[in-house]
Amino acid sequence: MSFYITCAIDYPNSRPHVGTAYEKISADTIARYKRLAGEDVFFLMGLDEHSQNVEKRAHEEGLEPAAFCDRMEGVFREAWKSVNVEYDDFIRTTEERHHRAVVAMVERANASGDLYEGSYKGLYCVSCEAYYLERDLEDGLCPIHKKEPAWREEDNVFFRLSSYGDKLKALYEEHPEFVQPATRRNELLALIDEGLEDVSVSRASSGWGVPMPGHSGQAVYVWFDALTNYLSALGFPDDTDRYQRYWPADVHLVGKDITRFHAVIWPAMLMSAGLPLPATIFGHGWVLTAEGRMSKSMGNVMDPMVVAEQFGADSLRYFLLREVRFGRDMEFDYERLIGRINADLANDLGNLFQRTLTMAKKYRDGVLAAPGAGASVTGLPEKAREVVDTYREAMDRYDLQGGLVAAWELVSAANLAIDGHKPWELAREDDRTAELDSVLYELVEALRYLMVLVSPTMPEKARAMAGQLGWSLPSEEWMLDSLLESAPESVQVNPGDPLFPRLDPDDFLDPA
Ligand SMILES: [Zn+2]
Repeated sequence: MSFYITCAIDYPNSRPHVGTAYEKISADTIARYKRLAGEDVFFLMGLDEHSQNVEKRAHEEGLEPAAFCDRMEGVFREAWKSVNVEYDDFIRTTEERHHRAVVAMVERANASGDLYEGSYKGLYCVSCEAYYLERDLEDGLCPIHKKEPAWREEDNVFFRLSSYGDKLKALYEEHPEFVQPATRRNELLALIDEGLEDVSVSRASSGWGVPMPGHSGQAVYVWFDALTNYLSALGFPDDTDRYQRYWPADVHLVGKDITRFHAVIWPAMLMSAGLPLPATIFGHGWVLTAEGRMSKSMGNVMDPMVVAEQFGADSLRYFLLREVRFGRDMEFDYERLIGRINADLANDLGNLFQRTLTMAKKYRDGVLAAPGAGASVTGLPEKAREVVDTYREAMDRYDLQGGLVAAWELVSAANLAIDGHKPWELAREDDRTAELDSVLYELVEALRYLMVLVSPTMPEKARAMAGQLGWSLPSEEWMLDSLLESAPESVQVNPGDPLFPRLDPDDFLDPA
């Protein structure tokens, strides 16, 4: 089965922020999980370069927009690498392959009779690059930028979005999974019921942008340009192998603020072009910044590279995905980040790992053989299977928090098994050798399960676990299915450095 996942493409007018990183980390975790589940995954990210804000920023830096974007591409790629995000392709909307796809989409919509020329008057937020209706403003201000929009009037090409209301409604009803989470779906159904208005799809060109076919002096405006990246990266309009293999997308992961463009304009554009529709638009919540007592000596405390450097990329990833249910807003707070690292990672998982491997080394020189068939001594193998089912069920619903909660049930069960069976007492009793063998082996097996279950969220730590567990299969070849069938006859573990050293909050936070 193929699985195609995309993120929103970012404006490169500023460096990525923890909130931008949150989306990429979420998508990367889903992509890694799907690979683990045996799917043929294609994960796309990229940059939305044809923005007036990008052009403006480039000129402020004394650069041509193209040269500025080339530089920012490096900045973004480096940031994503620093948080262990690995994509299959990185599309830039200034690329020739993208330009061709945009022209093809415009031509298809035109052939369907969905484009017309008109004059547009309205309130325009320059930062959003979007017109607002009076009723959508808050106290007369753009709800996102809290700035007063300016009155603007221009001759543009329009897309007949108004004629797609019934079709979109039918789509939402036949496919309740099309917009997730459900709260977003309900908001959009209400919007469609109010009646959709046609949208402007071109604007006066400054020379930066894809020229609007058949309308000199106009450039293709946001929707037909940016949204089309999901197709152009696959080789559209050519009928490539990649396109055949991955279109339609399984999930477009986007921020809640742009969910409506993806769930309303994008499917209408695809219907107009006669192309199949994606399965799901998932609108995630925002990362709200609460810098709190974070020491300013750290530098920019909302730069993902700085946070990853200070706390570890995988610890940051764990915190972002564990803290709130996926889809809701989260507050990024350093005290909570440090608290989670110490409690869940250093204490629960890290300690379990360290204790188990140290005992295996001390009592059995690190070599453990599988016990004979029959019921387990600790109940951990049975618990592990149950946890894998819960984990899969959660992850398949994009409940990334639920997947981690499930894995931590096994962490708790294994910690309880150590306390209950007291291997240090068994080691002193000559007639309980077999029992100790089983307890240690079952604990190490639980850790092997955990290594696989945490690998989508914490790929680097999972590889470190594999090294100490003596598990030589490269992580790209790990599979959830074979995990269940591959209990080794014997293992040799090698305890090493602690996975998650405890953090002292005083090293990071200013005094209260
Ligand atoms: Zn705005």
